Amino acid sequence: MAPSHTTTCAIAGAGPAGLMLGMLLARAGVDTVVLEKHDDFLRDFRGDTVHASTHQLIDELGLGDTFRGLAHQRIERLQVVTDDGPHTLADFTRLPGRFPYITFLPQWDFLTFLQDEAERFPNFRLVKNAEVTGVTTAGERVTGLRYKDADGVEHTLAADLTIGADGRRSAVRDAAGMRPRVFGSKMDILWFRLSKEDGDPGGMVGRLSDGQLFVRIERVGHWQAAIAVRKGGYEELRARGLDRFRDQLAALTPFLAGRLADDLRTWDDVKVLDVQIDRLTRWWRPGLLCIGDAAHTMSPIMGVGINLALQDAVAAANILAGPLRDGTLADEHLARVQKRRMPPTAATQRIQRFLQTRFLEPWVRGEGKSTTPVVLRLLKRFPPLQGGPARAMAIGLRPEHPGPLLR
Ligand SMILES: Cc1cc2nc3c(=O)[nH]c(=O)nc-3n(C[C@H](O)[C@H](O)[C@H](O)COP(=O)(O)OP(=O)(O)OC[C@H]3O[C@@H](n4cnc5c(N)ncnc54)[C@H](O)[C@@H]3O)c2cc1C
Repeated sequence: MAPSHTTTCAIAGAGPAGLMLGMLLARAGVDTVVLEKHDDFLRDFRGDTVHASTHQLIDELGLGDTFRGLAHQRIERLQVVTDDGPHTLADFTRLPGRFPYITFLPQWDFLTFLQDEAERFPNFRLVKNAEVTGVTTAGERVTGLRYKDADGVEHTLAADLTIGADGRRSAVRDAAGMRPRVFGSKMDILWFRLSKEDGDPGGMVGRLSDGQLFVRIERVGHWQAAIAVRKGGYEELRARGLDRFRDQLAALTPFLAGRLADDLRTWDDVKVLDVQIDRLTRWWRPGLLCIGDAAHTMSPIMGVGINLALQDAVAAANILAGPLRDGTLADEHLARVQKRRMPPTAATQRIQRFLQTRFLEPWVRGEGKSTTPVVLRLLKRFPPLQGGPARAMAIGLRPEHPGPLLR
């Protein structure tokens, strides 16, 4: 059994939340170990958005020049095309600050960037192929993580603080007996890649027509595309056949028609995202804090999951780095992280649920009217309003900034 190790902060999950927190704590001089179950970051169809607030944060950490050197796609507007023509839903050029845009960068490049920055500090360690299977406890207190390596050998990692940053199906959260409140969703998203050709109209565009919602996001070298379906709708689509699905996409965006047969050869080219919204009522218990999707799974609406995960990490590092370094960590510090991050999280989820039930679910049930939604008409009539959705998406309700210990 179990070779055991000790650290100050043990983090389960090397996603955006876990690696950002690990990197920030390492900068603050805190001994940190991140455990990641995969042996690489090469997973497609994860959120790839880098929000304006993330550019700002990385700049504040003095890493902006290196970061902007990574190949990325810059997006200045989110457009929605209805049968009446194009409408701008969010105009990022109206954002305050130095970053009037969002960008798309493969998540593995972003995570590798965070890993490289963190590994410049000797007090940081990322262990890959380390699947967390549970927590260790002493009475009510969580005292560390159990994990198994690639050979199936079990280990324990004892820590002053354990972080659950292992995503929407968090093993840490389950092992600690923390159950999220589930708000449910009546839709799913199908994601796929399509090839991009010279002369394609670029940008990030939603197409609303004939009771359907199709989104395409311009990426370096390809289109990232998504179509919303009602829960269970994927099986029906499959039963009707891939030809019908390709015809449906071609009718929505004719310029893609000629490449669909090559791009979507089998249903394996289509990935299903089970849309969920949930949230822990209490994000911590003694010795343990959950952040990112492990504390609150976001709907893909507005594309803000990564932003919230990163903001959680910055808030947690600001509040916890000092006490972890000085050995004065108390429950009250964990409660302060939740107190700071719960309001923007809950408010964002409320907005997502409103947009989902009011606008999107009727569309995916095939009840979408072919007339343009009133909100799009208003935004067209009063363009300065297009800055509001842009701000909610690209900056969020409570952007976080690194404090002096992290800089
Ligand atoms: C298909 C899809 C598209 C999305 N698109 C967007 C988008 O465009 N914009 C946006 O902002 N958000 C998007 N999101 C949401 C976004 O990806 C998440 O909100 C964000 O990644 C949450 O970050 P996280 O670090 O909390 O969790 P995750 O990114 O889920 O990272 C968790 C990490 O923990 C690891 N892990 C899991 N279990 C264990 C275990 N037992 N032991 C060790 N490691 C473990 C995982 O391998 C992973 O690396 C999308 C999500 C999906 C699924």
